[in-house]
Amino acid sequence: MDFWQSKRNQFPVRIDMHVHMVGNGSAGSGGWLRLKGWHSFLAGFMIRQLGMPATALEGDLEKIYSDNLLKFVRESSLGAVVLLAHERVHDPDGTPREDLGSMFVPNDVVLDLAREHPEFLAGVSIHPARRDALDELDRCIARGAVLMKCLPNCQNIDPSDKRYVPFWNKMAKARLPLLAHTGGEHTVPVVNKKFADPKLLRTPLECGVTVIAANCATSSGAFDRDYFDDWVAMTREFPNLYGDISALISVNRCAHLLDCREPAIEPRILHGSDFPVPVLAHRLWLNGSLDHEAFRRIQNIGNPLERDFQFKRALGFSDEVFTRATDLLRLQR
Ligand SMILES: [Zn+2]
Repeated sequence: MDFWQSKRNQFPVRIDMHVHMVGNGSAGSGGWLRLKGWHSFLAGFMIRQLGMPATALEGDLEKIYSDNLLKFVRESSLGAVVLLAHERVHDPDGTPREDLGSMFVPNDVVLDLAREHPEFLAGVSIHPARRDALDELDRCIARGAVLMKCLPNCQNIDPSDKRYVPFWNKMAKARLPLLAHTGGEHTVPVVNKKFADPKLLRTPLECGVTVIAANCATSSGAFDRDYFDDWVAMTREFPNLYGDISALISVNRCAHLLDCREPAIEPRILHGSDFPVPVLAHRLWLNGSLDHEAFRRIQNIGNPLERDFQFKRALGFSDEVFTRATDLLRLQR
């Protein structure tokens, strides 16, 4: 069913525009999941806190995970979520590096799920150095992609590389937004640390692409650089630059969450959860941003998508933050 048809009576639709698809390819999708050490521990923890058995990692993970997620969306205050594919690491000459990275979720996994369920919108992922990058972009747009997601520091993408300009131009022409990871990362391995810098996104911005900096370029912990102020400065220069507040209800990333409510910044903010990253507001309670009653009531909500949404509402984010994505995503009308 078409998204607009299914949502016509519920406008404005609240969208969580940053939800990860996870899979292991056991049913033949071509995807894979290779977890070592800390990432293996973290994946087991995330799967269990979602109420799924840890054995799901060895079973038909795509099916178990997407069924669970669909239930969470239907039982939440949200109308839809953008479900993100996950590209492989590539060398700048376009050679795929299957020896690096921990996960591959092919674009057809999210495109198929979005075709089946109006609650899912497809966020595809294409390394612009791929030899078939432009064709894959056309194919994904034709199949209904609403945005393109990449993690420059984890997938080895320098967004300022001039060879990628035709790719950015094609995205701009199709009005397909770029959701780019910015700042550090600890849930998937980092391949090139310097590509976390949001200033490298000037090239796609100058090509006219709507760019959404994931996590508003905040630091993922004590050991990596915080680019929040650089991102804010860039929003003054580029009207097509936005940021999402995904993963900011957490102990390590919440430092700038309240700054995002500032009147000069909030019009550029989009709601995202970064599901399945755990939603933990303990530090926001301890620093006085939330009172104890609200903290306890919301932290006890079992549905992580709803918990993340309710925390952001309790912190005073306006309703536009939750519905703004309907104007930016490439939704078929
Ligand atoms: Zn993410």
